[in-house]
Order: sequence, then structure tokens, then C-alpha cells
Amino acid sequence: MSTSSRTIDVRLTLKITSKQGNMKFSYPEIAVSKPLPTLADNEFESVAWGIENYGEDFKKLVVNKPAVGDQDVKIEMKFCGICHSDVHFALNELAAGSGSGSMYPIVPGHELVGTVVEVGRAVSRVAVGDDVAVGCIRDSCMDCKSCDSGDENYCAKGFTHTYNSPKSPAYSHIGGNQEVQNFGGYTQFDVVHERFVCKIPDGMELSKAGPIVCAGVTMWDPLKHWGATQPGKKMDIGIVGIGGLGTMGIKLASALGHRVVAISRSARKEELARSKGAHGFVVSTDPKSVEKEAGKLDLILDTIPAHHSIMPYLTMLSSSGTVVQLGCVGPLMEYSQLVLMFRRLSIASSVIGGVPSTQEVLDFCNKHNIYSDVKIVTADRLNEVYDELQDNNSDATRYVLDIKESLKL
Ligand SMILES: [Zn+2]
Ligand SMILES: [Zn+2]
Repeated sequence: MSTSSRTIDVRLTLKITSKQGNMKFSYPEIAVSKPLPTLADNEFESVAWGIENYGEDFKKLVVNKPAVGDQDVKIEMKFCGICHSDVHFALNELAAGSGSGSMYPIVPGHELVGTVVEVGRAVSRVAVGDDVAVGCIRDSCMDCKSCDSGDENYCAKGFTHTYNSPKSPAYSHIGGNQEVQNFGGYTQFDVVHERFVCKIPDGMELSKAGPIVCAGVTMWDPLKHWGATQPGKKMDIGIVGIGGLGTMGIKLASALGHRVVAISRSARKEELARSKGAHGFVVSTDPKSVEKEAGKLDLILDTIPAHHSIMPYLTMLSSSGTVVQLGCVGPLMEYSQLVLMFRRLSIASSVIGGVPSTQEVLDFCNKHNIYSDVKIVTADRLNEVYDELQDNNSDATRYVLDIKESLKL
């Protein structure tokens, strides 16, 4: 599919979503596009794969990365996961929520996996030769209540995303040209403050580690916050949506020893959900199926990224239960307060996880041999992979970019 037809497809998809969900999404007229600046003294060049201007295809680029500062770690990339949200950023789809367009040139990638090749003189957490991972957070203020408690994802000054984000004028710990946006993990080298670097545990399959620092921690952090990672605790947990996030949630919750009920709009996903460890299955559009779990679930993690009714989930919650919305959905969804009031139910939300949670889920997945199903690709296939992800956002298989092989092309 050519770039122009892909762009048109995105617009059509959003229009349809807009009708169904009564949302008012629109594209910004102009996406921010600036030519790459010349190399500054405190920077070095790295090969990367990105989109230079809005609407263009992926190509090999050379981008400037900051030189290694005292607390920085230089990583030679081996793999980078291709997340569905990379598609939204690269194609300028999230502009509707943020009020501004994606910043081009854009180099996506927030599931970085590589080896440390250089460290700043004050670095103590990792050493040259360590295999490490970096997720969605590249920087945060390091000085607020959330950062102090390891919830950098809820930094009071807003965390700095690994790519498509400016350096924060309020707190930047990132070196190099402060006027240039950050470039992500589809790259040969990256330099990241040691605080945001996690160690890959011994024995972990490097090609499969990337999705754990995004999809994995997105499911782990709410499980942890709502008590499901406490040793010995037994809960009844519902997972809504059997895609990349949902299957990861099923694997984590069942490995933690809970009874896991997969919830989907159709019976089609039952076999897949059970093969990932679900003990029960509910078709949320079938009242008889919902009735089987009525009042039984302590916690429901909802991964659906589109407008939908959450009333069937509230029916399935036990008293004091919580449904956590993880999908990126704009307007508030309808619910009856009476349903909440008489059983003290909560509707909550959560986004990714902080660095300590990211390290925990890496260690947990290594111990329990939990991985996403991955397909390894090289950079010449990025355009077709993006087309496929756009057509099918419920596929439980995650694509991973092989950086070393891509450099040989
Ligand atoms: Zn992601
Ligand atoms: Zn902070």
C-alpha cells in the first residue's frame, strides 16, 4: 500500500470511529516538521529509521543523539519493539488528544533493548556490557512525590516520552540540542539517563524483551496498584480485550496465582484466551454469559482502545471492585452512579508504569517465562508492518525490529 492510500485509510478509520463514538476527532492542519539541524559539539550521529515529513514512508535517516553525560548510559541497540502506539504517533493520529501534531522527522520506538557500550562517570546502576531495556519514559523531574515513589509515569511536571517529545524546559536531564525533539529506539545508538534504564535479567530472550517494557508494565502496574502482586493474595481478575495488552494481562495475572476471566465482545477469542492461561471466558455482549460472573470479579483491566459500554463489567464486579480503563478513549463512557453507589465500585484509569515496576515485570516475566508472541522484522519492512497494524489493531502478535540485521541492509 502506498503512503497516500495509507494516509487516506487512517482518515476514514477515524471518521468511522467518530460516528460510532460520538467523538469530535480532527487532524491538525499542519504537523510540526522541521529539518534536522546540523550536529552540535555535544552530540553524535546515529543511524535511525523514521518518517522525515508527515505522510512520507519510513526511510533510513541519520539523527543527532546527545553525547554521554555524567549520569548517562550509551546503548547499542539490538532490538526495538514496534508498538501499536508507534503507528498513532508516526501517522500523526494522536494529535487530536494532545492539541498538537507529531513532530517530524519522527523516529518511533519505546521498547528499546540493547547493550551498554559506554557509561558516564557518575553511573552506578549499570556497567559496560550489561544488556538493558528502556521503555516509554526518557526523562522526568526526579523531584516530585510521584517520581520519589517510583511513579515517574505520573510525574507532576509530566514525564518526557522516549520519542516525539520536546526536552522539558522545566527539568531536562537530556544533553544535546535542547530545541530538538527526542528520537526513539528504531536506531543504532541511544543515550539515556541511568534512572530510566532497566537491566535485562540473565537468561531473558533479548528479541522478546521489548514488549515487556511497554505492554507488560502497562498491565503489571495496575495489577500492583490494586493489590494483585502481593504475595499469597488470591483474586478474581477480569481482562477485557484479547489483543497484545490483554494476552499479556492474562499471562501475568494467572502466573500470579489468580483466577483469570477473559472478557471479549465475541466468542471468537475464547480459544486464544484459554491458551494464554484464562480460566473463564465471558462474551460481554451476551447477558447470559455476563450473568455467570455477576458480582464475582475483584478487579477488571479493560484494554479496549475505542468507545464502548462498561456496564457489563460493572455487573461482573464484586462489591468494592474496580474497573481500570487502559485503552486510549476520549469522552467519558456512560454508567449509572447507582450501580457504583450500592456496591462501592470504582472506575479508574492507569498509564504504563514507572521504572521500578518496569524492572519488576522484566524480572517476573523472566522467572515465569512470559513473553509476547513476536515476529522479528528488518527496517525495510516497516511500511508494510505499519499498514498491517493499522488494518488490525487486535492482533496479539507484536512485531520487533532487528536493529543489527537492519544495519546490514
Ligand atoms: Zn507502547
Ligand atoms: Zn516528577
